[in-house]
Amino acid sequence: MELIQLNHTCYYFNGPVNVGYVNRGNCGLIIDTGIDKQNMKKILKALKDKSLPITHLFISHAHADHYGAADYLQKTIDIYTFAPQVEEAILKYPILEPLYLSQGNRPLNEMRNKFLEAPPTRIDQVVSDGPLSIDGLEVEAIALPGHSIYQVGLKVGHILYAADSYFGEAQLDKHKIPFIIDAQATLASIEKLLSMTNVGMIPGHGVFEEDPTQTLIRNYDHHVNIISNMYDVLSNHKDGCSFEIIMKSLCEHWEVEIASLSIWSLYRTAIYSYLIKGIEDDRISFELKDFAPLFTLNK
Ligand SMILES: [Zn+2]
Repeated sequence: MELIQLNHTCYYFNGPVNVGYVNRGNCGLIIDTGIDKQNMKKILKALKDKSLPITHLFISHAHADHYGAADYLQKTIDIYTFAPQVEEAILKYPILEPLYLSQGNRPLNEMRNKFLEAPPTRIDQVVSDGPLSIDGLEVEAIALPGHSIYQVGLKVGHILYAADSYFGEAQLDKHKIPFIIDAQATLASIEKLLSMTNVGMIPGHGVFEEDPTQTLIRNYDHHVNIISNMYDVLSNHKDGCSFEIIMKSLCEHWEVEIASLSIWSLYRTAIYSYLIKGIEDDRISFELKDFAPLFTLNK
């Protein structure tokens, strides 16, 4: 992982999951940790080599690839940890992620892997939208829900650590149907990002861009394309369509590969997010038939 310096204060380690770093005087803030301690060891060494301090940790949302090394960090150094509300509960009780992805059932062992569940993490301070002062370092917490229930990004001057509110182009092409839990909130968060002028952004997966406008528009359009594809599927099933048919059709259309139960559960949740938006937008109705919901496109 390479340490990239963006200005006097802001840095990030570019890797499969980006790790942010902000320094002011004796305050050194790590933003997200990556998935495991192997990477974190390299990050700690790189910061130490430059004599940069490590005093605080901010976790943007409770997905294991973003907080998997938090427990290791807390056991290795004295570090004060921030997280958004609700995400905080999942960080304390990480079984909640495989549990919710299993629709509330006690998860199968297959669901309890390092991509969905990391060691429990202590949270010292819960963060919500607004200014935050960290030992003389002034930052702004920005709610960016949609990819998770209470995801928060951090704005430091003219740089925003945007978490997974949008993806780099390569990651968008790789995932095809990105993981979200709320399509309406996902679009609103991207609109919020588009309304910020003169702010460079770092997504959780991708690269820093001084002007991310094109990437943000690409993300917005990508979600809109998935939604219109879902409406096409429904319009081909005038008598109604089960969730399984909608999921199969979308996965075929987007050429998604589902290699494990965990991956299936992530795509199922994402596709349900678009369906919920369609229902709330009054474009889709559902009735219960043969012991299951049957979805129909409204005229
Ligand atoms: Zn995530």
